[in-house]
Amino acid sequence: MISAVRQRLGPKAVVTESSEIAPWLADWRGRFHGQSAAILAPASTEEVAEIVRLAAEHRVPLVPQGGNTSMVGGAIPPSDGSAVLLSMRRMNRVRSLDPDSRIALAEAGVILATLQDAAHQAGLRFPLTLGARGSCTIGGLASTNAGGTQVLKFGAMRALVAGIEAVLPDGSVHNGLSGLKKDNRGYSIDQLLIGAEGTLGVVTAVALRLVPAIAARAVAWVGVESPAAALSLLRFLEARMSAVEGFELVAEDSLQLVLEHIPGTRAPLASQHPWQVLIEATTADAETDIGAELETLLGEALSAGVIGDATLASNEAQAEAFWRIRDSISEAERAQGQTLAHDISVAVADMPAFLVEASAEVERAFPGTIASGFGHLGDGNIHFHVRARSRSALDWYKSEAPAITRLVDDLVTAAGGSISAEHGIGQMKIAELARLGPPARLHAMRAIKRALDPLGIMNPGKLVP
Ligand SMILES: Cc1cc2nc3c(=O)[nH]c(=O)nc-3n(C[C@H](O)[C@H](O)[C@H](O)COP(=O)(O)OP(=O)(O)OC[C@H]3O[C@@H](n4cnc5c(N)ncnc54)[C@H](O)[C@@H]3O)c2cc1C
Repeated sequence: MISAVRQRLGPKAVVTESSEIAPWLADWRGRFHGQSAAILAPASTEEVAEIVRLAAEHRVPLVPQGGNTSMVGGAIPPSDGSAVLLSMRRMNRVRSLDPDSRIALAEAGVILATLQDAAHQAGLRFPLTLGARGSCTIGGLASTNAGGTQVLKFGAMRALVAGIEAVLPDGSVHNGLSGLKKDNRGYSIDQLLIGAEGTLGVVTAVALRLVPAIAARAVAWVGVESPAAALSLLRFLEARMSAVEGFELVAEDSLQLVLEHIPGTRAPLASQHPWQVLIEATTADAETDIGAELETLLGEALSAGVIGDATLASNEAQAEAFWRIRDSISEAERAQGQTLAHDISVAVADMPAFLVEASAEVERAFPGTIASGFGHLGDGNIHFHVRARSRSALDWYKSEAPAITRLVDDLVTAAGGSISAEHGIGQMKIAELARLGPPARLHAMRAIKRALDPLGIMNPGKLVP
């Protein structure tokens, strides 16, 4: 199959040098390792279609890969070498960017930061952003329905994709880039491909919705008594302004870890609080004094007893310093020792109580652990992390991690939540999805997979148990 691809598409489309393949065979955290005899690297949709047809003919599974920043081992091939990596990184053109319709047409391999820069140059903005913005690709973001820190206002990828072009497992090309605002011809193939993690086809290009560029932003750090108080603050603000787009919960324990391990960080507030919130409010209107608006509202929230204290970043450098604290939590945890991460969601209104109760339950069941959460409270999505109380207890990870994860997943499922809020299933969570997925959902997912990919050539062993 590899030589057939080389023959049809030329040497540029095939990499077989093992030293060039090796960096793409493990995920960025080094938890998953695979094998692949080659990396196939098409430069156009037609070339992708040709590769998929050859893969079907030779019954060789393909593993689509963008920036390989998946949190769940989604882009790592099986370790038996039975599949071939399909890198989308050569398809890296922004085909068009139309300021009138506010639509950008980007090929799957365009890096998120590149698209954000292109939108910025046109006086616009692609609002989705996340820590991997310098490496992750538009195709990968669509295929994982990625979220990030601005979901509260703009939604995840599902809300920001206006259309998708993709090669389906039989080699046919689905073109959803027609720009139709209304189209009720039945199932949405575009939406089916979003979050499909490469199991239903190869995304080759995406039409993305842009929004006006930010004229100003206000960033605040707030101390609160509990996650419930944090949610009350969000509701208080939302009732009075529509500008809040970032609302990140941070436990005091997480803040202390960052201050201890990340050089140059400082506590934003002089007072101590059990929980903190990072708030970002933005405006596209240069006349609006967004800082004054947020400051007034936080003053009212303080007087009403909703919050304990608050400070507004006085300049961009301070705003960045606040965000750096939030973005460094995982790094600080790694510096402290091993952390067991769970990307979970429950209904927004239920998250405060869930967070408190689930933390207590895990700490009770596994003495010596600390359970806590941080992240996108306004989306009902928390990164629920469990770690040891002291470095000397490192052994706990090896022996207890699977049981802790099972308990967390059981608690989430019992609360009607999701064991994967934004990172997807990949290979990491496939067994848990099989164990806990609602039967109707699992049945429908398997039926869709069988119908569209009867030969099972698209990203086997991922997502669909
Ligand atoms: C530091 C860091 C921070 C992150 N923060 C967040 C966050 O806040 N929110 C969040 O949601 N996620 C976050 N992520 C994970 C996020 O899911 C990925 O960054 C991104 O969505 C994947 O893009 P990628 O190009 O790297 O895809 P890859 O990792 O290469 O692939 C991801 C999955 O998509 C499939 N795929 C890739 N390209 C295609 C394609 N063209 N067609 C079909 N299938 C394809 C792969 O087979 C795989 O299943 C973070 C990751 C890192 C490393």
